[in-house]
Amino acid sequence: MTGMTSSARPLLNRRLAEFGTTIFAEMSALAASTGAINLGQGFPDTDGPEEVREAAVRALRDGRGNQYPPGPGVPELRTAIAAHQERRYGLSYDPDTEVLVTAGATEAIAAALLALVEPGDEVVALEPYYDSYAAGIAMAGGTRVPVTLRAHEGSFRLDLDELRAAVTDRTRLLLINTPHNPTGTVLTRAELTAIAELAVERDLLVITDEVYEHLVFDEAEHVPLATFPGMRERTVSISSAGKTFSFTGWKVGWVTAAPGLVGAVRSAKQFLTYVSAGPFQYAVAEALALPDSYFVDFRADMLAKRDLLATGLAEAGFKVFRPAGTYFVTTDIRPLGTALSAEGDGVAFCRTLPERAGVVAVPNAVFYDHRQEGAPFVRFAFCKRTAVLEEAVRRLKTLRK
Ligand SMILES: *Cc1c(COP(=O)(O)O)cnc(C)c1O
Repeated sequence: MTGMTSSARPLLNRRLAEFGTTIFAEMSALAASTGAINLGQGFPDTDGPEEVREAAVRALRDGRGNQYPPGPGVPELRTAIAAHQERRYGLSYDPDTEVLVTAGATEAIAAALLALVEPGDEVVALEPYYDSYAAGIAMAGGTRVPVTLRAHEGSFRLDLDELRAAVTDRTRLLLINTPHNPTGTVLTRAELTAIAELAVERDLLVITDEVYEHLVFDEAEHVPLATFPGMRERTVSISSAGKTFSFTGWKVGWVTAAPGLVGAVRSAKQFLTYVSAGPFQYAVAEALALPDSYFVDFRADMLAKRDLLATGLAEAGFKVFRPAGTYFVTTDIRPLGTALSAEGDGVAFCRTLPERAGVVAVPNAVFYDHRQEGAPFVRFAFCKRTAVLEEAVRRLKTLRK
């Protein structure tokens, strides 16, 4: 990726140079070459509901969505998204002016950043962060300002004073992800209230990444920031079908926001993909209208998997941060006691894990600007079949021998 032309100028421009290669490619290659169980990347190893898959087949066969769908998304899906926001959160959005369908949450995030950020604007984001945020901010010419979630009594918490201190006169927006990947933290009502007050006081825009909105466990509750006073008009809420319905390959995402914000995001989006996933949009419209039992069962299934993996990792000697949301468990490798883990170097640990234990995981350090903050932490995905998780745990337990 760092190829040179004859004039020795790097091919990849300066904005993207630091994102040339990702650890995911390396880890997936390792998984393939060693036959290890891949708990690195977060995708389910079984597809979502049969009736939703059939809805996509029907749309294809009936010729719905096989040609360019409307720019904002097919009306059936926009109506279903608005109905979902109303039914779940009491948020009412006009499907025609306040909903935009995108190529996954990834495009929604990129388009929102490209539309709303001027070069030189600062964007405050919670670190560790999803890898597309840093690249999206860079493509928009913005400056990222990380606020680190710190390990404290079994979970990663936001320091509200640090968040307030990170906001300057150059801050344009806050990029908030809850439930949070990779830590599994779900921001509380009190934390969200403080974030909302800060946004209103400093007149900031907010982008929220809510792709794990249906994956919250125990007493945790997902509350969209847009529901807080003064937030509806300044919040670009983003979600997607990939995680909620276990169809990550379909790449159907969406934005809900006030008309001005949706219009701005659409201005950028129309020149990225213009439109995408025509037939799948019809299927996702049906998925969003599934009865509550689907969402309840999905959550119960993932909760059982969380407990299986979290308990297994603890028994294998990891310190476990039992997640309140998402489908990832973050661990601290230091208690494991081997030289590799004792140094607290998650990157080195993950590079040799496939060979040592036949499992692939991801070092959280890659999600940090302050790499050292994330050094001892390693992330495992539990959106896999029970038998696969059981085998992974069995293998990981051999690490200490
Ligand atoms: C998976 C993920 C996304 C990407 O969603 P797509 O709909 O697949 O583009 C965005 N944000 C977070 C935090 C994710 O984990």
